[in-house]
Amino acid sequence: MAFDSLSEKLQNVFKNLRGKGRLSEADVATALKEVKMALLEADVNFKVVKNFIKSVQERAVGQDVMSSLTPGQMVIKIVNEEMVNLMGSETTEISFKPGNEITVIMMCGLQGAGKTTTTAKLAGKFKSKGKKPLLAACDIYRPAAIEQLQINGDKQGVPVFTMGDKHKPVNIAKAAIEHAAKNNYNVVILDTAGRLHIDEDMMNELIEIKENVNVHQAILVVDSMTGQDAVNVAEMFNNKIGIDGVILTKLDGDTRGGAALSIRAVTGKPILYVGMGEKLSDLEQFYPDRMASRILGMGDILTLIDKAQIDFDEDKARQLEKKIKKAEFDFNDFLEQMQQIKKMGGIGDILKMMPGGMGGGLKDTEIDENALSGVEAIIYSMTKAERANPDIINPSRKKRIAKGAGVDISEVNKLVKQFEQMKKMMKQFSGMMGGKGAKRGKF
Ligand code: GDP
Repeated sequence: MAFDSLSEKLQNVFKNLRGKGRLSEADVATALKEVKMALLEADVNFKVVKNFIKSVQERAVGQDVMSSLTPGQMVIKIVNEEMVNLMGSETTEISFKPGNEITVIMMCGLQGAGKTTTTAKLAGKFKSKGKKPLLAACDIYRPAAIEQLQINGDKQGVPVFTMGDKHKPVNIAKAAIEHAAKNNYNVVILDTAGRLHIDEDMMNELIEIKENVNVHQAILVVDSMTGQDAVNVAEMFNNKIGIDGVILTKLDGDTRGGAALSIRAVTGKPILYVGMGEKLSDLEQFYPDRMASRILGMGDILTLIDKAQIDFDEDKARQLEKKIKKAEFDFNDFLEQMQQIKKMGGIGDILKMMPGGMGGGLKDTEIDENALSGVEAIIYSMTKAERANPDIINPSRKKRIAKGAGVDISEVNKLVKQFEQMKKMMKQFSGMMGGKGAKRGKF
């Protein structure tokens, strides 16, 4: 996972700070030196690091940190706030033209950065916001690019405008916008050509599009795995053609994180979204504060909540709530909940976003996702009747279930017992809450 190493180092620095009752100036200086090293090792731009440490230092001295009752916490708070500032403080939304006026977005970036994938991801996001996007295939140099865009567009249910590879990109862009106007599309996303390295031709092509087409926003896609190269690329694109924002891809990999922390400070342009995987749904809005919390090991509960709301079915949730109140929760519901957790990336991923270094502690006590699949296998090996009414699971049924799931019968016993206890607790709980199905006063 991105930032693991940086996060671990910073948390160690903080642990030392928290452990001290009073801090001397030398303590703070040592801590900041360690923060500096950690940031440099995470490949954060050295100028950015220098300024960052300077700001923290100034505030730490100016704010009576030394005489505070919790000086360690004060320093951590300042580091956190400065880190949020570094990444732009506020979330920047992509803006659209009012009403049905067409918003033109030009996507650019080096080959392999993830531009085509991100273009389709973004189209999906716009669609879910009620927009009518059209993708335009302006990369005429890589025949596979047009096809790739079409495949991804199909998956997102977003049409792709193409004129093959015999026309100039600027003309394709113009034609795409005309097509959009005639067919009621209100966002046109231009997928332009990338090259392996920055070269004059590529830049000129982008400039030509920008000069001849009313591009509302130019968005640069950069690969976070390339670290400071990504930052240099962003700076060059911004200087040559002018960009409005950046999408940072592959943040799901084990990138050290330097690009995420440097881009805004170096280019002055915000990170709009981050790519968190190859799937078309793996694009997350960028929140500087959440990202800082994640890096500092303070968790990212809000992203977790957002994730939980993907595919969130309100009716289902209500039904479940009713069942819990009536203590009618059965193995079918249990299974459904487990699948929901899996959708959110599994227990390991969820815990990593929890605050208080819970994720950090995880490294020592690795979560056994296999144990969960064991539980799942047991439930799958139950009949429908058994899942709906666990009371009927007698010893001979347990034996059959264990055999089917390929586990020892003691595992089945354990699960059934835990489940019964859970139901008992729910009953008591719903009693306390005055649930209809429970007898009042029993608790
Ligand atoms: P382009 O040449 O810039 O258009 O890049 P592509 O869209 O073809 O992407 C290059 C590769 O990166 C593909 O294998 C994508 O699946 C992959 N990719 C793109 N975004 C992400 C991301 O956020 N995470 C991961 N893990 N892979 C990504």
